[in-house]
Amino acid sequence: MKVAIAGAGIAGGYLAGLLEQRGISADVYDEGDYATSCNCRSCGWGVPTGINTYLNDVGLDLNDYLIEPMSSMNFDGLVARTPLCTVDKPRLLQDFTRAARLKRQNLGPEKAEEYDIVVDATGIVRALLPPCRSDLTLPTLQHRVAVESNGSERLGAGVYGNQIPGLGYLWIFPVGNNHYHIGIGGIGLIQPNSLLERFYRNLSGRYSFTRQCGCHGSVRVASPYYSTPLYVRKKRNDDTTQLIIGVGESIGTVSPFTGEGIVYSLECAKMLADSWPNPEEYTRSVLARFAWMKKERETLDYLLSPEGKGGPRLQDRWRFFCNARRSGIGLPMLEAFKRMGSLSQWVENPDS
Ligand SMILES: Cc1cc2nc3c(=O)[nH]c(=O)nc-3n(C[C@H](O)[C@H](O)[C@H](O)COP(=O)(O)OP(=O)(O)OC[C@H]3O[C@@H](n4cnc5c(N)ncnc54)[C@H](O)[C@@H]3O)c2cc1C
Repeated sequence: MKVAIAGAGIAGGYLAGLLEQRGISADVYDEGDYATSCNCRSCGWGVPTGINTYLNDVGLDLNDYLIEPMSSMNFDGLVARTPLCTVDKPRLLQDFTRAARLKRQNLGPEKAEEYDIVVDATGIVRALLPPCRSDLTLPTLQHRVAVESNGSERLGAGVYGNQIPGLGYLWIFPVGNNHYHIGIGGIGLIQPNSLLERFYRNLSGRYSFTRQCGCHGSVRVASPYYSTPLYVRKKRNDDTTQLIIGVGESIGTVSPFTGEGIVYSLECAKMLADSWPNPEEYTRSVLARFAWMKKERETLDYLLSPEGKGGPRLQDRWRFFCNARRSGIGLPMLEAFKRMGSLSQWVENPDS
């Protein structure tokens, strides 16, 4: 049985290692042309330390990739404990595919015909599966910035929903040597450059910011449920059947509230390896495991609808609190309820 994995990102690279352990050798395709200076898809590189369980499964260790812990983070002015850290994602991706048969080219439908099973691990591109039943993506802009303190206070990690209009937030993730990923992502985001410039201006008394590079991106916040079908069976030209099955962000394993997709895409890849090659069982487990993503997506839909202009309902605030609790973020319930309110404020004029 010939197997191809399209995409050597987090999900595809990890899946290749897991399948190899099970005696399934796949051809992995990825042109790797990201138009970013770190040579990886635009990403903040923030993960929970719990990622180590997944890394250990393929013989890797978090300590070898750890850049900085983010054990405390500022959430719109409230500092809370977190189990988060930043990791050297480009190096992690390289190590995932070190033993794989990696082909530095993209996989298109024509070449894919040669394979009995094709895994669509192409993230936001979703190159081989049909379109999601109801897609929702969120544009982002991220800078890598060298930050110098004008005093003794170091810029801390943080997430600020009150810094941008509409649904979304601004993040500050330290990535070593006083460099930071500072980015914004939001639905309906306009003038992302001027929002980041305004943020730098507001803090210019305390810090000097020197931009190293910048990249635009996009995150699928549709949820797996609204990203169905998660697989299709296709008749090939020679009348045999081919299975195309999605993994990771191509099928929406991303938290719709936070855009966090690394650890969930690893978990999804593990589910696929564990149920290989049973797409029905895999679909059932993905939809059950990530049912909370469907609820978060529905909150976004509500807040984007005319009825949602009045702000989040009790159930939306509860989902936000559950999100923080799931991620191990120590936001007290009342504070989490308030933060959800600030996330949904629409500031009409970003330059005001
Ligand atoms: C700005 C930004 C910041 C983010 N920050 C974080 C964060 O801090 N923490 C977090 O957990 N998540 C974050 N995310 C989300 C996270 O990056 C993704 O959810 C995660 O990388 C998904 O992994 P994946 O393997 O499914 O997809 P990807 O990482 O996107 O990998 C897909 C791969 O497929 C390749 N590809 C595309 N088309 C083809 C083709 N036809 N053939 C072969 N290969 C192809 C691409 O080159 C790519 O390497 C962020 C996203 C953005 C945009």
